[in-house]
Amino acid sequence: MSGNVQQQQYHSIVGKMEVPYHNFAGKLASDFFIQLRDNAKITGTKCSKCNKVYVPPKSVCGYCFSNLDSLVEVGTTGTLLTFTEVSYKETVQPIDPPFVYGVVKLDGADTGMVHFIGEVKPADIKIGMKVKAVFKDKREGNILDIKYFKPV
Ligand SMILES: [Zn+2]
Repeated sequence: MSGNVQQQQYHSIVGKMEVPYHNFAGKLASDFFIQLRDNAKITGTKCSKCNKVYVPPKSVCGYCFSNLDSLVEVGTTGTLLTFTEVSYKETVQPIDPPFVYGVVKLDGADTGMVHFIGEVKPADIKIGMKVKAVFKDKREGNILDIKYFKPV
């Protein structure tokens, strides 16, 4: 024994794992995305008790808590409820800034959905303006099958 004390040292290495996976979207979301992909149609769920229409579809009514299982088609045009301009880059954003997020209440829906607002300068965007969905030509069954909403 020399009297040396051996100390335990810890060292960590920063790494990054990518874990691809497939997750069942659920029946309602599956139907919603298939309609988007195959027919360029936007659907929601309608509550048979209080007649609220949810877009994107929800499985439970937020007003009366009824189970919702029937899809209804809504319009591809709607009203801009609110918007914000994004000017910073974040890894969670699907596109590079600057861009505008809007909340659009589609014709026939009672709720708003978040999506991009395009083909308009931010300074020209007005709450209450009518907008229309612009679909990608080659759709894949996700929310980005809608490129953005543009002014009508
Ligand atoms: Zn309801």
